[in-house]
Amino acid sequence: AETSRIRNFSIIAHIDHGKSTLADQLLLKTGTISERDFRNQLLDGMDLERERGITIQMHPVTIYYTRQDQVYELNLIDTPGHVDFGYEVSRSLAACEGAILLVDAFQGVQAQTVATAFLAMENNLTIVPVLNKIDLPTARPEPIIEEMETAVGTKAEDVLKCSAKSGLGIMEVLDAIVDRVPAPSGKQDNPLKALIYNSHFDPYKGVVVYCRLFEGTIKTGQKIKLMRGNTTYVVMEVGQFRPKMQPCDTLIAGQVGYFMAQIKLITDVHVGDTVTDSENPTETALPGYKEPQPMVYSGLYPINNNDFETLREALSRLKLNDSSFTFEPESSDGLGFGFRCGFLGLLHREIIGQRLERDCEIDLIHTSPNVTYEILTRNGQTILIKTPQDVPDAGQIEEFREPIVKINFLVPTSNIGDIMTLCAERRGFYCRTEYLSTTRAILTYEIPLADVIYDLYDKLKSVTRGYGTMDYEMLGYRPADLVRLDVLVHNQRVDALSVIVHRTTAERRGRKLISKLREKIDRHLFEIALQAAIGTRVIARETIKAMRKDVTAKCYGGDISRKRKLLSRQAEGKKRMKMVGQVDIPQEAFLAVLESD
Ligand code: GDP
Ligand code: MG
Repeated sequence: AETSRIRNFSIIAHIDHGKSTLADQLLLKTGTISERDFRNQLLDGMDLERERGITIQMHPVTIYYTRQDQVYELNLIDTPGHVDFGYEVSRSLAACEGAILLVDAFQGVQAQTVATAFLAMENNLTIVPVLNKIDLPTARPEPIIEEMETAVGTKAEDVLKCSAKSGLGIMEVLDAIVDRVPAPSGKQDNPLKALIYNSHFDPYKGVVVYCRLFEGTIKTGQKIKLMRGNTTYVVMEVGQFRPKMQPCDTLIAGQVGYFMAQIKLITDVHVGDTVTDSENPTETALPGYKEPQPMVYSGLYPINNNDFETLREALSRLKLNDSSFTFEPESSDGLGFGFRCGFLGLLHREIIGQRLERDCEIDLIHTSPNVTYEILTRNGQTILIKTPQDVPDAGQIEEFREPIVKINFLVPTSNIGDIMTLCAERRGFYCRTEYLSTTRAILTYEIPLADVIYDLYDKLKSVTRGYGTMDYEMLGYRPADLVRLDVLVHNQRVDALSVIVHRTTAERRGRKLISKLREKIDRHLFEIALQAAIGTRVIARETIKAMRKDVTAKCYGGDISRKRKLLSRQAEGKKRMKMVGQVDIPQEAFLAVLESD
């Protein structure tokens, strides 16, 4: 390979706009895969993604494209198309010189696509705008090209049109990648400088490190250094993704590929770190990334406490390939032993949950999700709150802070009023409205993340009948009047049901929570009091009447000693249940806390 004929690019697209289909076509039209091996959506990573039909992130792939006897090496490094995985976008973009902005010719640009396109431009990537699905009878190329111009500033004459499904216009896309995206600028003679942009764990080979070389070369047998921790390794194999891992002798400046160096743990490799030669090191490391921070936490409890160790093993296995997911043991009065897990967002949480169920067949309770908070205590300490149970007594709190995000909604103009109502109800702070066309607009708000994860996405989808999309980025923690709202079942606090809420909404939330719980908990042999409380102050209360089970009825009133025995046994049962708080709370009840109005 020669650096001048390498092109590194990614595809920015909203879910369903045709990213996988286009990638398949690029492989097929260049002969990277044969028609015979062609399997739809070859590059979609996980089975789960394929089943759900969503692409979070595709495998990287090296494509050889021959034009006028010149062979070009095109490396596709994908960016994920969902808000939860926003941090991965920046790391994939850092490995590229260009990006295809793929837009559905019927649906038009979406919030996440706009945000990612801006990020790419900030990183000096060349944007190749492509309109997909032009075969659709409902395609509206002209208005959508105009929207793209307004939203991200693409020029109408630069927009390519294709159908990834029929194969129309694909060669033009390949040519545009070669002609418009700049070649990498590094030199082979310089000391090695490579960016780690991803990694995965192979049970047989250990950690496989995905890298983009900026300077120098890397080959088998070379002694390398990971600059962050100053750790050295000997390279055992280098190679490219074509699309399967294929070993080669050397990777050179500008190329994208992988290496293995008998690294045992994925935690020894930091995405964003710089790889260099240990004998002839580069002077400065590449700018790193911020490590992704879990934004949403929830508890995972096995229904059967004997499954605790099995669950721990399953979580450890998942963690091997997903370092953004965290877990630590915790215990709860109501639920026994389980784990507090940290996720990037609700989709991430759902995916991890489904993989766990598939992986270990354990019945699990997922407690309601919460965001992280910050508390400044009276003695001047700042503590990070990952679970409502961590909230100290009100008397110790100087300042309670919540995460705030900047959120963009891309909606039909007819829904602007609905969005404003939704945001007003959620303590949103209005920033601006920007019209893309007469029919669509971008609304920008600052809003608490907690309200975003609670139900905002579902609400957006329902008021816009699926046409609205949103994108958000973290702004930081800001002070707010927050309280911990507790739920007491039969006078016992069920810590898994505690939530952190704004004081002004506490009473409404509390009342709603209790009435939902009442519907979900069956009658018991005794009366059950349900209460919502802030500290010791009860703000809502309901009762579940006792089930009447007159065990003495069978006794025909005759044998008094027998009757007394039965009565005392029943009382004993009642007492035992009270003592251990043995109220059956179904999983539904925990989920009810999350449900929207
Ligand atoms: P992704 O989520 O961006 O990876 O989207 P996919 O590639 O999975 O495509 C989503 C859906 O759109 C699939 O049903 C595809 O068959 C369909 N699709 C993709 N490209 C085209 C196209 O050019 N024309 C039409 N009519 N359908 C397409
Ligand atoms: Mg797909």
